[in-house]
Amino acid sequence: MLYSQVAGQEEIKTSLIKSINSNQVSHCYIFEGPKGMGKYDLALVFAQSLLCQNFTSDPCNICSGCVKVNTGNHPDLHIINNDETTIRREEIDEVIESIYKKPYESDKKVYIIKNAHEMTAQAANTFLKTLEEPPGDSVIILLTYNANLLLPTIVSRCQTVKFRKVNKEIIKTYLKENYDTSDEIADLAAEYSKGILNRAVNIVKGNDNLLNRRSEIIQLFDKIINSDSEIIYELENYFEENKDTIDIIIEILMMWIRDITFVKNNLNDLVINKDFKQLATAHSRLMKSDNANYLIEILQKTSDNIKSYVNYKLAIDNMLLKIQEVFK
Ligand SMILES: [Zn+2]
Repeated sequence: MLYSQVAGQEEIKTSLIKSINSNQVSHCYIFEGPKGMGKYDLALVFAQSLLCQNFTSDPCNICSGCVKVNTGNHPDLHIINNDETTIRREEIDEVIESIYKKPYESDKKVYIIKNAHEMTAQAANTFLKTLEEPPGDSVIILLTYNANLLLPTIVSRCQTVKFRKVNKEIIKTYLKENYDTSDEIADLAAEYSKGILNRAVNIVKGNDNLLNRRSEIIQLFDKIINSDSEIIYELENYFEENKDTIDIIIEILMMWIRDITFVKNNLNDLVINKDFKQLATAHSRLMKSDNANYLIEILQKTSDNIKSYVNYKLAIDNMLLKIQEVFK
């Protein structure tokens, strides 16, 4: 692997590389950031860098250390909690046993602990003891979406590395270079990913079916604003069946309303759903004056209400009615 295979996070990469080259690698890191930011991928490249025999600013990918990391069988690289469940005390006991042994092949041993906040209290307490007197040849990388969920005594003994959302342009370039993505799809994926790289990759790969759902929901929106209020009752089943993904539906609706506003204000370049531009133009003509902000607020409020367990059906009916009002 190479550092360039993980998009963004340039500051983090620079500082990790520098720490190796200046011999100032910490014994414990916490990689903190939302799911899908590439924490695991970057932890792997960093681990490979530490186990590479010819490291300069990237792992060489030729030496036996690199080859073994790339094929997933380096004896000095330990991935803990790979299935991201609970981390029991016994698992941490195994880590500790191995931490105090000499590395097999390299000068270092690297431990990547996924979802580190899933350690049981017992596991965390046992783990803490290792951090009090860490052996010099071990590097531990804890991955978590929220460091506050770890024991404060663990956090204070590790170096916290915060992952930030990736700029849209960087995501676009990354998708085009690594996935041979068209401009249009890269744009859409970057926009819908909200700065979370793996989300953008999933959109491009079609894993979450987002692009198809987007078409479906834009067409649904068209139907809603071109029908009378009966449609709200007709759609009850649809919304009930899609209750689990209502967040995504609302997000797609928000993007769509934004697009309508862009068209209305002659900001055509900013339109995200370019393949539906004609429809956006038609909708912009139907929208009463500038009601976009009002609608976005309604959608946001609907999403908040659903999260705070307001009656789902009522919240949806109300949202659809308000949408109709603005376009009638
Ligand atoms: Zn190497």
